[in-house]
Amino acid sequence: MAETLKKRSEVPVELTWDTSRLFKSSKELMSALEEFKKLTSDMEKEYKGKLTTAEAINDCMDKLNKWNIMADHLYNYVELNVSVDYTNADAQKEQALVMSEFSRALSTVSFVDSELAEAPKELIEEAINSATVGKHYLEDVERQRPHRLTPETEAAIAALRDTIEAPYKIYETSKLADIQFPDFEANGEKHPLGYSLFEDNYEYERDTEVRRAAFDAFSKKIREYMYTTATVYGSHVRTEKTISELRKYDSVLDYLLFEQKVTREMYDRQIDLIMEKLAPHMRKYARLLKEANGLEKMTYADLKIALDPDYDPKVTIEKSKEYIIDGLSIMGPEYKEMLETAYKERWVDFARNIGKSTGGFCASPYQKGSYILLSWNDRMSDVFTLAHELGHAGHFAACGKAQSALDVEVSNYVVEAPSTINELLMAEYLKEKSGDDKRFRRWVLASQISNTYYHNFVTHLLEAAYQREVYKLVDKGEAVPAETLNEIYKNVLKKFWGDEVELTEGCELTWMRQPHYYMGLYSYSYSASLTIATQVMKRILKEGQPAVEDWKKTLAAGGTVTPVEFAKMAGVDVTTDAALLDTIDYIGSIIDEIEQIGV
Ligand SMILES: [Zn+2]
Repeated sequence: MAETLKKRSEVPVELTWDTSRLFKSSKELMSALEEFKKLTSDMEKEYKGKLTTAEAINDCMDKLNKWNIMADHLYNYVELNVSVDYTNADAQKEQALVMSEFSRALSTVSFVDSELAEAPKELIEEAINSATVGKHYLEDVERQRPHRLTPETEAAIAALRDTIEAPYKIYETSKLADIQFPDFEANGEKHPLGYSLFEDNYEYERDTEVRRAAFDAFSKKIREYMYTTATVYGSHVRTEKTISELRKYDSVLDYLLFEQKVTREMYDRQIDLIMEKLAPHMRKYARLLKEANGLEKMTYADLKIALDPDYDPKVTIEKSKEYIIDGLSIMGPEYKEMLETAYKERWVDFARNIGKSTGGFCASPYQKGSYILLSWNDRMSDVFTLAHELGHAGHFAACGKAQSALDVEVSNYVVEAPSTINELLMAEYLKEKSGDDKRFRRWVLASQISNTYYHNFVTHLLEAAYQREVYKLVDKGEAVPAETLNEIYKNVLKKFWGDEVELTEGCELTWMRQPHYYMGLYSYSYSASLTIATQVMKRILKEGQPAVEDWKKTLAAGGTVTPVEFAKMAGVDVTTDAALLDTIDYIGSIIDEIEQIGV
């Protein structure tokens, strides 16, 4: 039954997050904005054209750090307020005002980066040696030096930024604004269809006829946009290729991995091993899904269904607190305190209301706690989502405390480790609690596969495998028309699922659905993060305290370490295939246990 959503103003305050931790009122926001404008113009007056001594550079780093903190608070405040209620005109006005000041300020302080880029190597080295804030920021300036172009070319590229980013915008506009899905028919009834309706509901629909008819109707519609989407995507990857050549990288993949501080070997290993070694386990899981749901055959349209669709454990927000705090208290008293604070100081927006953004995220303005957006449905699966987002909160609480605002940004390769480890620890805790309740235990195990591992190790990894093939062609200077993209995608699916899953017509269009392709190499990194998380979780269960202490230090390191160093601090070696192979075995063992319990 369709639920009538409340207006934001009617939602009980205890279900909402508290943005007054950032600014108490509109007046306070405006005076902070004035202060921010002043800091921006002061920086310009004091340092523009003057970054010629190590002392000046370090003073400027200090100011840039403050500037970042202020920008971070302002930006988050207006974004957060809009995200919970898109119908709130006042919040939109504040957002527009802050964002226009913000982009003006950003362009004003851009002289810092360009002057540092132009400064002699020795000067930057001297500044690094005496830096108290922003040491890693300066080291990155050095790291990028060999790939920097002349000031005129850099300026030309910067000026073309809008054009360079156009493919992503065109893709999103066509997907979210242009495509109109017609109703489709199944079981003699008409059903409405839409992009998120399909991806959030129909893919999980238990009625097989409705589910497969939805897939068919969805695929037919997006196929009408196939050539335009391929052209837009092709222009995006060719631009990346051009930039990688201008900046003298060996290949477009090397260019994209450079920013993440990840080697080609680490990247390739993640894709190759999962494609080969995880596939047999997942085919078995597909078989179990087929049996459990009494299907004649398993098709591509059926892969997201639940193993036990009749069983959907419920949990209230109050009870979730007990689960979260008990389940994650293995991380030590400090972490437990952070979790209690999250509930007490209203870090989480649980509400469901008109105009609220869907999905979930965690924003962590510097040293101000976190803001977690979700839509609580009283389902046990919400506990996993909350544990995940609180993992991001715990990460940024730890590194925000230990590092300057210039050093809190972490590589994609590790960013999902602190969040997914919480999902795994919650699962372990619930398994422990399940006692003799086999059905509940099987539900937890199946959730680990269908949520945690499927999402990170299958969905995104298959995208990554496809993406790598596309870039290989682009590197060779070959074209990537729609037919080629379809073929690459279908081959990846065939390789992974073998004969176990019938590749329904339309599966080859899956490449049209993912915005990640416009964000560089994002897709593969989910499984990289979760590999680290699985290994650390196993270490914590086995070794207890010493492993927890290592993990806490790792979380505090923020952007000051590379992904390899991050993993190493946590006791995981990601320079060989051992950690990944062990993680794949672990996934296999969960599926084996589901099979033993029976479907
Ligand atoms: Zn996350």
